Amino acid sequence: MSNKCSSGNSDFESTEIKKCTQALKETDFELAYLAMLTCEGLKPLSRWEKTLDDEGLRLLQQTGLLTKQIPRTVKTGKEVIETIFSRSQSYIQLYEQHFENKPIDKSAQTQQFEGFLFGYPPCCVNQYIRKPYAPNSLTALEQNILFHWACKDCKITPMLLLAYKIIHDLLV
Ligand SMILES: [Zn+2]
Repeated sequence: MSNKCSSGNSDFESTEIKKCTQALKETDFELAYLAMLTCEGLKPLSRWEKTLDDEGLRLLQQTGLLTKQIPRTVKTGKEVIETIFSRSQSYIQLYEQHFENKPIDKSAQTQQFEGFLFGYPPCCVNQYIRKPYAPNSLTALEQNILFHWACKDCKITPMLLLAYKIIHDLLV
Protein backbone atom coordinates (compact mmCIF):
# COMPACT_ATOMS: atom_id res chain seq x y z
CA MET A 1 0.00 0.00 0.00
CA SER A 2 1.34 3.39 -0.96
CA ASN A 3 1.36 5.60 2.07
CA LYS A 4 3.27 8.66 0.99
CA CYS A 5 1.20 11.13 2.89
CA SER A 6 1.14 9.45 6.25
CA SER A 7 4.50 10.30 7.66
CA GLY A 8 4.03 13.94 8.49
CA ASN A 9 4.85 17.38 7.27
CA SER A 10 8.20 16.61 5.69
CA ASP A 11 6.50 14.61 2.95
CA PHE A 12 4.19 17.46 2.17
CA GLU A 13 7.25 19.24 0.88
CA SER A 14 8.20 16.39 -1.42
CA THR A 15 8.15 17.29 -5.09
CA GLU A 16 5.67 14.62 -6.06
CA ILE A 17 3.08 15.55 -3.44
CA LYS A 18 3.59 19.21 -4.25
CA LYS A 19 2.97 18.47 -7.92
CA CYS A 20 -0.21 16.50 -7.12
CA THR A 21 -1.45 19.23 -4.82
CA GLN A 22 -0.83 21.93 -7.42
CA ALA A 23 -2.72 19.90 -10.02
CA LEU A 24 -5.58 19.27 -7.57
CA LYS A 25 -5.66 22.97 -6.83
CA GLU A 26 -6.24 23.61 -10.52
CA THR A 27 -9.28 21.33 -10.39
CA ASP A 28 -10.55 22.88 -7.16
CA PHE A 29 -8.83 24.58 -4.24
CA GLU A 30 -11.16 22.97 -1.73
CA LEU A 31 -10.36 19.50 -3.07
CA ALA A 32 -6.61 20.11 -2.69
CA TYR A 33 -7.18 21.48 0.82
CA LEU A 34 -9.33 18.49 1.85
CA ALA A 35 -6.75 16.11 0.42
CA MET A 36 -3.97 17.71 2.45
CA LEU A 37 -6.01 17.79 5.68
CA THR A 38 -6.74 14.12 5.15
CA CYS A 39 -3.12 13.33 4.29
CA GLU A 40 -2.05 15.00 7.52
CA GLY A 41 -4.60 12.96 9.46
CA LEU A 42 -6.54 16.01 10.65
CA LYS A 43 -9.53 14.51 8.92
CA PRO A 44 -9.74 10.71 9.12
CA LEU A 45 -11.91 10.67 6.01
CA SER A 46 -13.16 13.26 3.53
CA ARG A 47 -16.03 13.26 1.09
CA TRP A 48 -16.13 15.01 -2.27
CA GLU A 49 -19.68 15.46 -3.50
CA LYS A 50 -18.99 17.15 -6.82
CA THR A 51 -18.07 15.16 -9.92
CA LEU A 52 -14.49 14.01 -10.06
CA ASP A 53 -12.87 12.72 -13.23
CA ASP A 54 -10.31 9.90 -13.45
CA GLU A 55 -7.47 12.41 -13.42
CA GLY A 56 -8.69 13.91 -10.13
CA LEU A 57 -8.99 10.44 -8.65
CA ARG A 58 -5.51 9.53 -9.83
CA LEU A 59 -4.05 12.68 -8.29
CA LEU A 60 -5.68 11.91 -4.94
CA GLN A 61 -4.22 8.41 -5.06
CA GLN A 62 -0.80 9.75 -5.97
CA THR A 63 -0.67 11.67 -2.72
CA GLY A 64 -0.97 8.26 -1.03
CA LEU A 65 -4.67 8.48 -0.16
CA LEU A 66 -7.03 5.55 -0.55
CA THR A 67 -10.11 6.46 -2.55
CA LYS A 68 -13.50 4.93 -3.21
CA GLN A 69 -16.50 6.06 -5.24
CA ILE A 70 -19.76 5.48 -3.43
CA PRO A 71 -23.13 5.44 -5.19
CA ARG A 72 -25.92 7.09 -3.19
CA THR A 73 -29.47 8.07 -4.02
CA VAL A 74 -31.25 11.39 -3.60
CA LYS A 75 -34.94 11.93 -2.81
CA THR A 76 -35.98 11.74 -6.47
CA GLY A 77 -34.38 8.29 -6.69
CA LYS A 78 -31.56 9.62 -8.86
CA GLU A 79 -28.12 8.12 -8.24
CA VAL A 80 -25.21 10.35 -7.29
CA ILE A 81 -21.58 9.36 -6.89
CA GLU A 82 -19.59 10.52 -3.89
CA THR A 83 -15.82 10.22 -3.74
CA ILE A 84 -14.36 9.45 -0.35
CA PHE A 85 -10.68 9.41 0.56
CA SER A 86 -8.70 8.46 3.62
CA ARG A 87 -5.34 7.14 4.76
CA SER A 88 -7.18 4.30 6.44
CA GLN A 89 -8.87 1.36 4.79
CA SER A 90 -10.97 0.90 7.95
CA TYR A 91 -12.52 4.35 7.63
CA ILE A 92 -13.24 3.73 3.93
CA GLN A 93 -14.93 0.46 4.90
CA LEU A 94 -16.94 2.09 7.69
CA TYR A 95 -18.29 4.66 5.27
CA GLU A 96 -18.97 2.05 2.61
CA GLN A 97 -20.80 -0.27 4.99
CA HIS A 98 -23.07 2.49 6.27
CA PHE A 99 -23.72 4.56 3.18
CA GLU A 100 -23.14 2.64 -0.06
CA ASN A 101 -26.31 2.62 -2.19
CA LYS A 102 -28.18 4.32 0.66
CA PRO A 103 -30.27 7.46 0.33
CA ILE A 104 -28.57 10.67 1.44
CA ASP A 105 -30.07 11.64 4.80
CA LYS A 106 -29.50 14.35 7.36
CA SER A 107 -30.66 12.52 10.49
CA ALA A 108 -28.96 13.32 13.79
CA GLN A 109 -27.45 9.84 13.84
CA THR A 110 -25.98 10.28 10.36
CA GLN A 111 -24.61 13.71 11.22
CA GLN A 112 -22.97 12.33 14.35
CA PHE A 113 -21.42 9.42 12.47
CA GLU A 114 -20.25 11.68 9.64
CA GLY A 115 -18.80 14.09 12.18
CA PHE A 116 -16.81 11.25 13.67
CA LEU A 117 -15.51 10.15 10.25
CA PHE A 118 -14.71 13.69 9.10
CA GLY A 119 -12.86 14.67 12.28
CA TYR A 120 -15.35 17.22 13.63
CA PRO A 121 -15.51 17.92 17.37
CA PRO A 122 -18.61 16.14 18.77
CA CYS A 123 -19.63 19.29 20.72
CA CYS A 124 -19.88 21.24 17.44
CA VAL A 125 -21.77 18.45 15.70
CA ASN A 126 -24.31 18.22 18.53
CA GLN A 127 -24.77 21.98 18.64
CA TYR A 128 -25.26 22.02 14.85
CA ILE A 129 -27.93 19.31 15.15
CA ARG A 130 -29.75 21.35 17.85
CA LYS A 131 -29.41 24.65 15.97
CA PRO A 132 -27.38 25.00 12.75
CA TYR A 133 -25.11 28.02 12.38
CA ALA A 134 -25.68 29.29 15.92
CA PRO A 135 -23.43 32.32 16.54
CA ASN A 136 -19.90 31.48 17.66
CA SER A 137 -16.89 33.59 18.49
CA LEU A 138 -14.82 32.79 15.39
CA THR A 139 -14.01 35.40 12.78
CA ALA A 140 -15.43 34.81 9.30
CA LEU A 141 -11.90 34.04 8.12
CA GLU A 142 -11.43 31.38 10.80
CA GLN A 143 -14.83 29.83 10.20
CA ASN A 144 -14.13 29.74 6.45
CA ILE A 145 -11.13 27.45 6.68
CA LEU A 146 -13.12 24.87 8.67
CA PHE A 147 -15.55 22.27 7.35
CA HIS A 148 -17.66 22.18 10.51
CA TRP A 149 -19.55 25.02 12.18
CA ALA A 150 -17.86 25.65 15.53
CA CYS A 151 -20.00 25.65 18.65
CA LYS A 152 -19.96 28.68 20.94
CA ASP A 153 -16.87 28.74 23.19
CA CYS A 154 -15.62 25.48 21.66
CA LYS A 155 -12.65 24.01 23.50
CA ILE A 156 -11.44 21.85 20.59
CA THR A 157 -11.88 24.08 17.52
CA PRO A 158 -9.25 26.71 18.47
CA MET A 159 -6.63 23.96 18.62
CA LEU A 160 -7.82 22.41 15.37
CA LEU A 161 -7.79 25.83 13.75
CA LEU A 162 -4.06 26.23 14.35
CA ALA A 163 -3.38 22.96 12.54
CA TYR A 164 -5.87 23.68 9.73
CA LYS A 165 -4.36 27.12 9.21
CA ILE A 166 -0.86 25.72 8.65
CA ILE A 167 -2.17 23.47 5.86
CA HIS A 168 -4.36 26.21 4.41
CA ASP A 169 -1.49 28.69 4.31
CA LEU A 170 0.76 26.15 2.57
CA LEU A 171 -1.78 25.95 -0.24
CA VAL A 172 -2.66 29.59 -0.85
ZN1 LIG B 1 -17.28 22.49 19.63
